[in-house]
Order: sequence, then C-alpha cells, then structure tokens
Amino acid sequence: MHMQRHSRRSPCLLAVAALLCASLMLPAQLLWADSAEPNTKVVLTDAEQAFLRQHPSIRLGTDASWEPYVIAAADGSILGYDADILERVNALTGANFELVLGRWNDMLEAARERRIDGLSSSVVHDERRDYLNFSTPYISSRKMLLVAGGNPANIRSTQDLAGKTLVIQRGNLADEKLARSVAGAKLMLGDGIEDTILAVDRGEADATFGNGATLFAANRLDLPSLEVATGLGEPMDQVFSVRNDWPEALSILNKGLAAIAQDERLSIQRRWFLNTRNDPEPLLALNAEERSYLLNRDHLRLCVDPQWMPYEQLDDDGHYRGIIADIHDALAKRLNIRLEILPTATWAESLQAAREHRCDLLSAAVETPKRLSFLSFTPAFLDVPLVVATRQEQPFIDSILDVSDKTFAMIRHHALEEIFRRRYPGIQLIEVENPRTGLEAVREGRVFGFIDTSVTIGYAMRKYQLIDVKIAGKLEERYALTVGVRGDDPLLLSIYRKAVESLSTQEVDQAVSRWTSMETVKELDRPLLFKIFGALGVIGLLLFYRDRVMSGYNRRLQEANRQLEVLSTTDQLTGVANRHKFVEIMTQEIVRAERYKSALSVIIADVDHFKTINDSLGHDAGDRVLIAFAQLFVHKSRSCDLVVRWGGEEFLMLCPQTDLESATQLAELLRQRVAESDFGIGRPITSSFGVAQYRASEDINKLITRADSALYRAKAQGRDRVCTA
Ligand code: GH3
Ligand code: MG
Ligand code: MG
Repeated sequence: MHMQRHSRRSPCLLAVAALLCASLMLPAQLLWADSAEPNTKVVLTDAEQAFLRQHPSIRLGTDASWEPYVIAAADGSILGYDADILERVNALTGANFELVLGRWNDMLEAARERRIDGLSSSVVHDERRDYLNFSTPYISSRKMLLVAGGNPANIRSTQDLAGKTLVIQRGNLADEKLARSVAGAKLMLGDGIEDTILAVDRGEADATFGNGATLFAANRLDLPSLEVATGLGEPMDQVFSVRNDWPEALSILNKGLAAIAQDERLSIQRRWFLNTRNDPEPLLALNAEERSYLLNRDHLRLCVDPQWMPYEQLDDDGHYRGIIADIHDALAKRLNIRLEILPTATWAESLQAAREHRCDLLSAAVETPKRLSFLSFTPAFLDVPLVVATRQEQPFIDSILDVSDKTFAMIRHHALEEIFRRRYPGIQLIEVENPRTGLEAVREGRVFGFIDTSVTIGYAMRKYQLIDVKIAGKLEERYALTVGVRGDDPLLLSIYRKAVESLSTQEVDQAVSRWTSMETVKELDRPLLFKIFGALGVIGLLLFYRDRVMSGYNRRLQEANRQLEVLSTTDQLTGVANRHKFVEIMTQEIVRAERYKSALSVIIADVDHFKTINDSLGHDAGDRVLIAFAQLFVHKSRSCDLVVRWGGEEFLMLCPQTDLESATQLAELLRQRVAESDFGIGRPITSSFGVAQYRASEDINKLITRADSALYRAKAQGRDRVCTA
C-alpha cells in the first residue's frame, strides 16, 4: 500500500522504495516445511507377495447405507471414507481390496461362510474371532451431543439436558440406553436420521446423539448448521476384518494402513466428515495408550519465549499471544487438553525450566545436539529464514564470512548460538534477551549486527521505530521451529508429533497472517511512517547510485529482493493471502480435486463504488474498509478455505470440496453480511460476487476468467448481487 502511494509521486522513487521496502519493511516471508512426507511404498515379504499373486482381489463387505463410510455412486462406483482409505492401501501395497455393498446381516453371513473375504467398518467383536482377524484401527468415531447452530439452549454437557428434550432414532438401542441414563431429560423418538436432525433444527428437540456420519447427513439435508456441543464417552475404534485363514491379507492391510501419511488421512477424513459451519475437531489417530495418557493429565505445562513477537509473548497481563500461541491453542484443542503457561521473563529462563523438567513442552524450539540431552522434538511446524540487521549506513552483506571479524548479537540461548559457534568458531557473539535490546545494541554501535528472524526484526523495528537500522543480509541457516517435548516422555512426544503433523498449511498460514499484518497495521503511526519513508527514499536513492557506480552490486541486491518478494505470501494491508499464495494452494487443490473427483469452487468479490469511498473520505478510510472487508471474509471462511486479496478492492475465496450451489450460498451469505455490517464510514457498503466451480482439467486462468465474467454480470445487473458462471 505504501508503495502505491509513492507510485503517484515518482517512478524513480518507487524503484528505490520497492528495494528498500523489500529489504527493510520485510514482509512475512515464512515458508513452512512441506509436511506431506512422500508416501514410501510398503515393503512386502516374499510370502505376502506370493499371496497377492494368488489373490488378485480381496473382497470386504459392508452395509450400503453407511454413508459416508461407503456411498454407492450413480455410476456403480463406491465412494466414501472406507473406499478412499482402501484405495490408499491398494496404491501403497499393490493389493486390491474391494468393497462389496449389501445388508449388514447378509454380509456377516457371507463372511462367516467365506463367500466374501472380510468386512469393512466394524468394531472388534471377540465372538467373531473364530473366523475373522481384525486390522489396526483406521478411524475412531466418538459419539457427540449435537445441537442446533448457535447452540440456542447453551448446552455444554449432558448435565445441561435436565428439563430439555432429547431426540434419538427409534431402534438405536445404544443411543436409547444412553439417553435414559441422562437425568431429567425428556425423550423423543425420531424415525430415521433425517427426522431426528430436523427435530433439532426446528427446535422441537434441544439435542440429539450422533457422530461424524450424522453431520454428514445434516449437510446432505442442507442443514449444515448442526453443531457439536460436546463429545461423549470414549472414542470407538473402527477396524477392517479379514478371514482368519489369510494372515498375509491382514499383515498387508496393516502395513498399508500404517504407511498412509497422517495429513493424508486427515484430508480424507475432512473430505467425508466435513461440516461447513462447524468442522468437528479432526480426530487424530491416537492409540489407546495415548488417549488414556491425555485423559489422565489435567493439563500440560508449557514454557514459551515471553518476548519474541510476533511469534509469541506473554503480555503485560500474562496472556500468551502471537503466531505460536495460536498454533498451540489449535494443537491443545485438537488434543482436548488444557495448557498452563509457566511464566518466565526470558527465553533463557524458559530453556532452563525445560532442562529441569519443570515444563512438559517448549512452545517452539529448534533441534540442536545439546538440547537433545533433555528434549525431544516434533517435526517442524514453521520454517523461518534468518537475517542480519545492521546500522543503516553499512553495505549489504552477501555472506556472513565476509564480516566474520565483526561482533554479532543474538538472543541468549537461541539455537542459533549453538549452530553459529559450531559453524563460524571465530565470530564474536554477545547475547541479548530480546529483539529490541539486540537492535538497540546495533544502533548504539555496541555490535555490528543482530541476527534473528526477518519477522521478529521487522516487527521490533516497526514497533520501537528503530529507523536507523536495516536488514542487511540473509543467512543460509533457517529456524525449523518444532515443539520441544520433555525428553523423558516418549508418549507425549508421539502425541504431539501426530498433532503437529495434523496442522494444515492454511491453519499455520492464518496464524501467521493474523499476527504479521493486522497487528502492525493497527500499531502504525501513519504520519511518522511517511517521514520514515521519505528519509529512506533519499538515503536509498544515494545508495542506489553509489552502488550502481561502484559495482554490479545493485543487480545482486535487486535479485535478492526479488527473491524476498516471491517468498512473501501475504498481502501487507489486509493480512490475507496474496496471489502468489493463491497459485500455490490452488495448484495443490486442483491435484486433490482431480484425484478425489471432488468439487472445488472460487468466489470473487468486488466492493461496489469503492472509488467514491476513497474520493469522499480519503485513502486511509478506504484502507480501513478493505481491512474490515477482508476480516469479514476470513471470519466466514472454514479452515480449509483460503481468502486472497486479488487486487485493489477485489477478494477471492477458494473453497475446496464445495460445489457451485454451496459456493453460491456462501457468496450470498457474505453479500448479506457485507451489506449489514458497519464499516465505520457512516454508511453501508455493498459488494458484488462472481462464483465458478472448477471443471476437470481446466487451467487456473480459465476458471478465474469465468468467475470474473460472472462478477461483471453482477455489476452490470445493478451490483449488490451474486452471479454464477
Ligand atoms: P465498481 O462498483 O464498478 O467496482 O466501482 P469501483 O469504484 O469499486 O471500481 P474501480 O475499479 O473503478 O475502483 C477501485 C478503486 O480502488 C480504485 C483504486 O484507487 C482503489 N484502490 C485500489 N487499491 C487500493 C488500496 O490499497 N487502498 C485504497 N484505499 N484504495 C485502493
Ligand atoms: Mg469495485
Ligand atoms: Mg475492481
């Protein structure tokens, strides 16, 4: 946004400002480790391979009505959660497990008589062991208490059901028993799942029992508003069963199941158990031991860096905030465990507490050899570039080795210290407690440079207005941030490993953009910023010419800055994703949509008559409207949606697993919300929408063009409306 203003002044200044912008006002250029570990093919024994040659297909029976575990598609194919899981197992092992649909009782009979080879979707029943073996669990489902959207009766537990009406399906003995044990609840019987859901939706009953399949059915009835009030009881493991004279079939199946990557399992799960309003917490593949560990812990104790914004901090009231705080919040929710922060004043103190096992977890830690003596590490959830900040007048640094005779500051006991001392034994290091003191040491000339992440340095420069320092170079080293787990607790490590692996890129993204843009926009002192930019422009111009005359340095600088820009994935004004990020995610989503034959839609929105807001109330008011507009979209999006700033006052929402009709509904909801919202400019604003669904093998530009033409139609027809491609 700042660059745009300069552009109205002079193109030359723009070039300089762009360079400096990229090097000084570093955007949130975070890259995260690609968590999708490649699926390594399973290694089979000779006996297993021979078995597969003799048994080109292995047939598992299941009940045709158990959506979404199995769904009989119109073209005769079988879709659903079980089908996707078996497809992965087949791809990984070379086996051919097939599903056979029928009535459950007939299937049981057929399995007993070995007319089919086993069963899908069942729990372990000891009485079937004389003819079946059971696989490892492939999903857990937990009974849940479901209420109408918004939870009007504010039901948080079964105790809250006293005096309320509970509807259950007639004939479901397990549910009926459970319902009768709830004190004071009035019981109502519904015929079938639809009736039951409708009763809750219409307010005839206050709650019902259900599971992921109930939410799925609710979605199909176009009643996606059903909400999970609370989980009930222990999750139940669902397994496959295979005839017990075929041990190889079982071992192949188990190997295949074990080889499905965690994030892939979750994405299959999200696909079939997705609820548009209220994503049920993704169920992690925790085993019984891990689950009971969590049940037996009242809370986990977490140590954090109290002053490393925007990643994390303990604010004046002792609240834990920041990107990493959001990520820990998401992890704890997923594991259904409470976190307690062990307050410290510095990172060094937190590390010491972890060493003494006074905390179970260290919020974000890089793995180093020394730390391995007392900590274990999950996979990385964020991968962060490191940079050097120097005084403004220093030349840019190509390599740390060129300045190895200088003194550098870094945060006490950060991983970098250990890495650095090993790699550059000659370098002089002094330790500081936080980015602010590090940058002040640079400014006062006590050290040549301060090394930390670009994001924390950029944040401190803006927050404390340290305008006489700059980011002068980038290090080869990066911080791969993981959760540190106390070294003597392997069970907790495996729990957190699974939880971290289940984080989606979008989830991490959202945490990052929430703290990198919004926060700073709010804190910016605009007039001052203008002065800074003015000054930088002049200094920059001088540097620019000096460098151009002196060497080909400028080209290298330009190249470095170009790379920094490409790394950046968020829009600086609104904090939502930018086009670069969109292309990255869209490319992944297209692969997924093609592979699973799932729907994928985009919504393009454009503020109506936005120019008049700028013209009548000023550019700043316009900016504020854009920020609020983007926030409204983020607020209404699901965790799997991506909100993108497409251009000036145009936004795009990418909605995986959403067909044209649902996307249009969502657009209509957004349109209404925009029209009803107060944007603080003393009058309402409206917006127009174009919606398009991805078509097989379509290229991204084509899809966008179709959405764009729909938007154009919406404008032409009088604005404040939604049109579809
Ligand atoms: P329409 O209903 O046809 O969409 O009319 P409009 O005025 O919204 O459309 P037009 O595309 O003519 O104007 C968009 C304006 O948005 C022009 C541009 O100055 C302004 N704009 C673009 N980026 C920014 C920004 O970052 N901040 C502010 N405040 N304004 C911006
Ligand atoms: Mg417009
Ligand atoms: Mg426009």
